[in-house]
Amino acid sequence: MHEMGIAQQLVQIALAAIPDDIENPKVEKLNLRIGKLASVVEHSLTFCLEIITKDTPLENARLSIDVVPVRVHCKTCDNEWEVKDSVFKCPFCEDGDVEMLTGREIEITSLEIAE
Ligand SMILES: [Zn+2]
Repeated sequence: MHEMGIAQQLVQIALAAIPDDIENPKVEKLNLRIGKLASVVEHSLTFCLEIITKDTPLENARLSIDVVPVRVHCKTCDNEWEVKDSVFKCPFCEDGDVEMLTGREIEITSLEIAE
C-alpha cells in the first residue's frame, strides 16, 4: 500500500504550511489535487491520513480531493488533448512523440485552518 508513504509526505508538507504564529492550530479541511494516473486509492489515503494525523493539527481534517484528468501533448504535431482511456497514441498525426502534461500529480492546493 503506497498510500502510507504519500500520506506521510502530504502531512509533512501540510504541517510545514501552517503559519507559526497560530496557537494550537487546527486544520479543518485539506484540499488535494490527485492525478487520475497517480494510482492513489482514495479510501486507503483517507485511512492512512487518519492514522498518522492523530494528535497533530491535522487530526479530523476533512479531505477534499480534486481528480486531475490526464492531458497529453504531442511534440510532433503540437496538439494537446485529454486522454479518456489508456490509448496514448496521438489522434492527430497518429505517430507522434507524446508526453504527459497532467495526470500524475499528488499535491496540496490549500489548507483551511479553523479560526
Ligand atoms: Zn501528433
